[in-house]
Amino acid sequence: MADLKTDEQKIEKLAEMIGGSKRIVAFTGAGVSTESNIPDFRSARGVYEAIERRYGKPAEVLLSHSFFKAHPDIFFDYLRSYLIFPDAQPNDAHKTLAVLEQLGKAAAVVTQNIDGLHTKAGSKNVCELHGSVYKNYCIDCGENYTLDFVLTSSGIPHCEKCGGIVRPNVVLYEEPLDSSVTEKAINEIAHADMLLIMGTSLAVYPAAGFIGYFKGKNLVIINKDATPYDGKANLHIQAQAGKTMRTALDILGI
Ligand code: NAD
Ligand code: ZN
Repeated sequence: MADLKTDEQKIEKLAEMIGGSKRIVAFTGAGVSTESNIPDFRSARGVYEAIERRYGKPAEVLLSHSFFKAHPDIFFDYLRSYLIFPDAQPNDAHKTLAVLEQLGKAAAVVTQNIDGLHTKAGSKNVCELHGSVYKNYCIDCGENYTLDFVLTSSGIPHCEKCGGIVRPNVVLYEEPLDSSVTEKAINEIAHADMLLIMGTSLAVYPAAGFIGYFKGKNLVIINKDATPYDGKANLHIQAQAGKTMRTALDILGI
């Protein structure tokens, strides 16, 4: 889009694309929740730096299946301190997508986030590729538990029925994605006329690879930092997702 020089021109174009689309699918990452004060992983002040200082290990290690098995005490300390934000509220990135769904323009949100904010904002069709901290289960008997249960227990949370460890239903490194969620996400992306990628470094696989299933007209990336897919986008806006989306919907009178 060499002819679009300023962010204003790009947001005008974004509004035009949204206005002309019937099946928008959003593909979101941690960057859509930074405006809700949840830190992302890879921005300069992201979680990576904080945890490397505190635990001396990278996030990929702390959030791996083998680390959870070997050091569940540290895992839950890390989880409660850095990955659970029960008071966070949806921002304009989440809210605008929920509005577009209500208007019948957006078909789905495919998210890598585990914070539940798309659902909190009112989106109904949300594919949580990496699960959610709001869902927890006993690894031995499968009993379900709430986020509150994990937050109000101390140390390693144990099942009230069998004593097993209660863990969040989130996908750790070394663990596969849920196949039914994956299938649904790919299907939504494959049938979208506009793919709206927001707030993701597109560095985490296999999730980032799902955008390859998009066959529609408009591939849009709204992200603060550069991503490996910027060159493939019909429209690339390097800005805050929430503010950008709010401005685009203002232009459309939504
Ligand atoms: P990431 O941290 O790798 O990348 C976030 C990207 O968002 C960065 O490129 C950054 O420039 C951009 N960004 C930050 N704030 C932005 C804003 N306001 N508007 C637009 N862009 C913004 O995140 P990722 O690609 O989602 O991968 C991280 C992994 O960690 C994911 O698998 C996710 O599950 C998990 N994670 C989730 C949360 C959450 O649930 N909120 C938070 C941290 C990490
Ligand atoms: Zn149990």
